[in-house]
Amino acid sequence: MVKPFIMGSDSAKNFLEIGIKILSEGKNALDAVEQTCKAVESNQDDHGVGLGGIPNLAGEVTLDASIMCGRTLNAGAVAHVRDYLHVISIARRVMEESPHVLLVGDGAELFAEHLGFEKTKLLTPYAEEFYNAFKEKRLHELGPEFDLDKGYLRADEQDYDINKWFERLEPHMRGTVDVMAFDINQNIATGVTTSGTYLKLPGRVGDSPIIGAGNYCDNRYGAACCTGTGELAIRNGSARAVVVYMKTGMSPTEACEESMKEIQEIVEKPSMNVIAFNSLGETGGASTHREIPYYYMNIDSQRVETRKGSWVKK
Ligand code: ASP
Repeated sequence: MVKPFIMGSDSAKNFLEIGIKILSEGKNALDAVEQTCKAVESNQDDHGVGLGGIPNLAGEVTLDASIMCGRTLNAGAVAHVRDYLHVISIARRVMEESPHVLLVGDGAELFAEHLGFEKTKLLTPYAEEFYNAFKEKRLHELGPEFDLDKGYLRADEQDYDINKWFERLEPHMRGTVDVMAFDINQNIATGVTTSGTYLKLPGRVGDSPIIGAGNYCDNRYGAACCTGTGELAIRNGSARAVVVYMKTGMSPTEACEESMKEIQEIVEKPSMNVIAFNSLGETGGASTHREIPYYYMNIDSQRVETRKGSWVKK
């Protein structure tokens, strides 16, 4: 029998104790994941998740999240949500109380309002300052051809290429939290919540709320969650790919490495990370650009353990 445990990406490091306490009380993996994600969403010093997230080009903070149950393969997700902080909880209610998997934008907000979620101003003074500084100074550093008009990119030059601007923003301007848990009943749950890429185009949705791209779990084989350039995880179906690789017998590390190799094959200098565990409780991680740390606690841990994933080079 696998001892209940929780693991997560960088942003979860200081919050895993919340989840492990829930697992120690014999509660389920979904509760541990949801409560840990909520704590990260409330941390305004994290500029890639929830409160304090850096806004999109129009100055709006929009959040994406998903949650999955490995026992039933039920999943819930929301994308492009404004004015509601705990998108992980809204995603859970989508899973448990709606016939759907993914709600977006106005519809997701209406669903949250209908269920009585409280509205929250997500744009903090720091995030607003960051946005204004970007508009006034950094935008021009990214390329003299770019300007912002009513929150949208505009170009005065003929060789305008929106990709250039986006590439220059990468790779450090974004964040996400992955939280993954294994409970006393040997059930798995995974959650991912994010404000996405800083200064994204209005309407942009990343991999975090896309089941199979940024988040996937299945009690029979294991779980995988991504951080990094969401567009790559969507194109590659990364989280589900890692779980399928574990199904074929690869260890979590091998499965993560394989999916990062696939990313290396499709673009130059990618910036992607994935962390995983299997049904035996073995863990792993891999990244295209660093020795990715991830964080682990089981019900006997005194403190959070840092584990290191592999760096998959071209
Ligand atoms: N994967 C997230 C997204 O693309 C961002 C991140 O993990 O840094 O929205």
